[in-house]
Amino acid sequence: MDLPTIKQKRDRLLDAENLCDHCLGRQFAQLGHGLENYERGIIVREIDDLNEDSFTDENVPDDADESHRCGCDACGMVFEELDHWTQLALDSFDRYELETFLIGIRPPEDVVSREDELWGEYGTEYTEPVKTELSRLIGKRIESRMDVKVDFERADIMAVIDMRQGKERVELQVNSVLIYGQYNKYSREIPQTEWHCRNCRGSGCEKCDWTGKQYPTSVQEEIQEPFIRESKAIEAKFHGGGREDVDAKCLGKREFVLELIEPLNRDLDLEELQEEVNESTEKVEVFEMQYTHKDKAADIKQKHADKEYRAQVETEKEFEEGDLEEISKVVGVVKQDTPERVEHRRADKTREREVYEVDWEKTGDKEFELEVKAEAGTYIKELIHGDEGRTQPNISDLIGTQAECIQLDVIWIEK
Ligand SMILES: [Zn+2]
Ligand SMILES: [Zn+2]
Repeated sequence: MDLPTIKQKRDRLLDAENLCDHCLGRQFAQLGHGLENYERGIIVREIDDLNEDSFTDENVPDDADESHRCGCDACGMVFEELDHWTQLALDSFDRYELETFLIGIRPPEDVVSREDELWGEYGTEYTEPVKTELSRLIGKRIESRMDVKVDFERADIMAVIDMRQGKERVELQVNSVLIYGQYNKYSREIPQTEWHCRNCRGSGCEKCDWTGKQYPTSVQEEIQEPFIRESKAIEAKFHGGGREDVDAKCLGKREFVLELIEPLNRDLDLEELQEEVNESTEKVEVFEMQYTHKDKAADIKQKHADKEYRAQVETEKEFEEGDLEEISKVVGVVKQDTPERVEHRRADKTREREVYEVDWEKTGDKEFELEVKAEAGTYIKELIHGDEGRTQPNISDLIGTQAECIQLDVIWIEK
């Protein structure tokens, strides 16, 4: 069966239905550009020989009025109440700083069921859902009354207007502010993010001095405080591009994203806050702080960055300077079984990783300093002690005495 023409659809609609301009026009919403549905409704009524080309500005009478033929069986009162809903949304924005927003609509149930009936009877060609029209019209009203813009991709705030009977309210979804940065960690005593006390799991006990924390502070806590204070966020989340061990320094500027949850303020002086962090702590230093978005946080978390490390190594037996020459044989592909220390977290398997460069310096009879540049995911401590042969080749075997990494710092991270 051929689809009905635009004119046929119109004739059937006018014949059998009593629709207002909004609802009539909405059945043809995809025709013409820059028109509102009530203007389409007028065109549909006025132009006898209706076709695709009828939907132009010139065919809209000068005295066209949005509120003239407004309200019908299909929409009830919703188009007459736009100012009311607009005001409710504006009121709900009151506490928040925002530049962009998005309106979502839950239309009254009877309006939705009437829409389904119309679509069933006359087809969905050329139409748009009533909630799309409502959110567009309310969005335009808000734009005209406040210095804000609709943003479909990354709105600061999404307001869902619930028009269903008995609900009649605005629910806000306040999107996070995301701030990109890089950090160095100069302490060997703090983790990247807060750890719950192992004894009480966070509820507070004698061992943790009733703080619930395993460590008094963390990289995250050293950084976030002034950002939470200024944005009036309810809390912050920390997304690190990997993490170093608690006892390792990071001198290679690790990337992170600080996520401020449900902030009231979004317009922050990041330069000033960065400075405040750096003046308030010796444990951490932050760099390059700037606004970013969700994709970047995901990016940073799953990026596999190559790294360079500096390790202090102690050996069981004394060794000669020349013995260390053997270390260069570790350059190339290294096979590592999942280390004992992480086995409970990761599936046991053998992984191949590449070691790009090594350098060393004898610092004592049974001590040397090692620098290793390696592929993301290489286990450096195991590369040194050999993990009972589970890493091959390994430095202990190569120099002929058991070696242990006693200190490990990250000195470069690929960006
Ligand atoms: Zn209507
Ligand atoms: Zn505790």
